Amino acid sequence: MKPFAKALAAILLATSSSCWAWGAAGHQTIGTIAAKLIQGSRAEQEIQALIGNLSLADISVWPDCAKAISPAQGYKYLNEGKYKDCKLFETPEREAEMADFVRRNDQNCQPKPGEEICHKQYHYSDIAIQRSSYSLGPVGTREDDIVGAVAAATRVLKGEPAPAPFNIKDKREALLLLVHYVGDLHQPLHVGAVYLSKKGSRVDPDKGTYNPATATRGGNSIQLKSTDMHSTWDDIPITLTAPRIDGLWLAHAKVLHSTPGDIYTWPQQWATGTLKEAQAAFKGVKFGPFKGKSWPGTLPAGYSPTMSDIKKDQLTAGGAHLAELLQAIWP
Ligand SMILES: [Zn+2]
Repeated sequence: MKPFAKALAAILLATSSSCWAWGAAGHQTIGTIAAKLIQGSRAEQEIQALIGNLSLADISVWPDCAKAISPAQGYKYLNEGKYKDCKLFETPEREAEMADFVRRNDQNCQPKPGEEICHKQYHYSDIAIQRSSYSLGPVGTREDDIVGAVAAATRVLKGEPAPAPFNIKDKREALLLLVHYVGDLHQPLHVGAVYLSKKGSRVDPDKGTYNPATATRGGNSIQLKSTDMHSTWDDIPITLTAPRIDGLWLAHAKVLHSTPGDIYTWPQQWATGTLKEAQAAFKGVKFGPFKGKSWPGTLPAGYSPTMSDIKKDQLTAGGAHLAELLQAIWP
């Protein structure tokens, strides 16, 4: 391969982790913002006691890395050497730690036919974008969705047991989960979903009888020109990666540091904010008839800059909210 082609191939390889929420880079940005905001606090010390020399950015991808533990193959880790961001966890001891979590969070929610195993479902909700706020009850919400998952990990860090069906064994595991889940809770397509008829028209799953065939799986079943809609939202531009976090960006994050009310209502409040961004994410998007495994989607003109702005706002909010929650857990 010519050097240029080689470089291009390397870039494509590095950005092809399509099943990753926010992509690893987005989670690392959120972890890095939070770490900078809690510098010098008690929370920083308590975190260090739980994860040692790892950083919040390092652990921010842990629950995605754990998805490579295969229940069908004796809880073996299948992605050895595949993703550079999981490399830190690819030691016998840390692979055993991931396997142990998956073993306890595999069938505990009694997944229905066609559903993913439990811990994979913790990463999202699929509340319809027609709803104006997040609440538990509408189609696509679950006790063990992303909102419930953030609250469960928070409880364990506060010294309480995790509510069923979550099985979180200790504070370290809870922190490994929390840092990632707060990130996912700010990715618009991890919270709000569009539901479509066979012909590609928008339907409201909470009106009449719900038809599971209308679910678009967080945009995974919406095919754009070169990728699916979920991946388009998971990917972040280089300008939004952790090394680009500067004083101005942090100052903006600091202002967002003030969610009102009881901490166990925070995940729900944040989900409502993200749901509004999901409504914006689907604004003007056109869908064609379902074909094969997906609906074709066409983005409106000017979509890309709008999407980048939303991503920056949500990454900033994610980092600020994570810092706020960690400091509320350890005041
Ligand atoms: Zn995730």
